Amino acid sequence: MTQPIVIAHRGASGYLPEHTLEAKALAYAMGADYLEQDCVLTKDEVPVVLHDIHIDTVTNVAAVMPKRARNDGRFYAIDFTVDELKSLRVTERLDHETGKPVFPKRFPAGKSRFEIPTLAEEIEMIQGLNASTGKNIGIYPEIKQPAWHHEHGKDLSRILLDVLHSNGYRTKQDPCFVQCFDVEETRRLREELDCQLPLVQLTWDVKWSENGDGFDRDYIDTVLKQFAEYADGIGPKMSHVTSGADESGKPIVTPLVDSAHAHGLVVHPYTLRADDMPDWIDDFEELLRICYKTAKVDGLFTDFPDRAVHVRNQLM
Ligand code: CA
Repeated sequence: MTQPIVIAHRGASGYLPEHTLEAKALAYAMGADYLEQDCVLTKDEVPVVLHDIHIDTVTNVAAVMPKRARNDGRFYAIDFTVDELKSLRVTERLDHETGKPVFPKRFPAGKSRFEIPTLAEEIEMIQGLNASTGKNIGIYPEIKQPAWHHEHGKDLSRILLDVLHSNGYRTKQDPCFVQCFDVEETRRLREELDCQLPLVQLTWDVKWSENGDGFDRDYIDTVLKQFAEYADGIGPKMSHVTSGADESGKPIVTPLVDSAHAHGLVVHPYTLRADDMPDWIDDFEELLRICYKTAKVDGLFTDFPDRAVHVRNQLM
């Protein structure tokens, strides 16, 4: 049994603005095993590391290029060249409706100086750190909204795989998980694009019972059998792995991890945040212990990799 891995969700995003190289370097120093990259394409088809197809909630684009919004008032990465995107300043995430920070106790919005990294730049930094530290920390790129990219005539998966291949990530043994929410696209990565890297099917809106309410072992088995045809793991919401506590306070663990393991799939739930806890528990370290020891996850996505590494190392 290998140790569960700690995946730095958008970097050490609990401490520095998400998806900046600074947030990734900090996560690296905190001992994360994998660093996550959400990827979208620019107008000139360069994969850049951004969580959304929009850029207005994490940059100063509205202030410096106000005329570049679409009719819906939003600014889209795909409408900008990589040079234009790199000229923007990145800020701690703001709420689109209110303009206020999503996580008010995190890094102050608009402070210091950060920029959007390309995927290639970020890989170069991580591989550089691997060279200087002698470690072998992995990457965990996500293909964001592939259908939306296809609608704009862009094949994000194909372009992203080219970047991974040219940087030495090719085989199942390489430290690189590729993740995607789109079930058809994830299957396409394996079956049409011949991706040999470990694939993780993210499962935001996947149902785990006939009516979508609750967890039915037989139903879960049927779904996961299909995912196991092409994927190596699943990335469910954390609440789909441990969904609360019973009357005696004992955590409730769903059949999802057990079923996934029976199908040879690893389970990497998201997202553990000390400042956004589920309503049934207040203690972040205890939640981490439940995920590792009770739910027996194979890894987890967290904005606080230092704390997840610390608890993992205490337990194992
Ligand atoms: Ca992601």
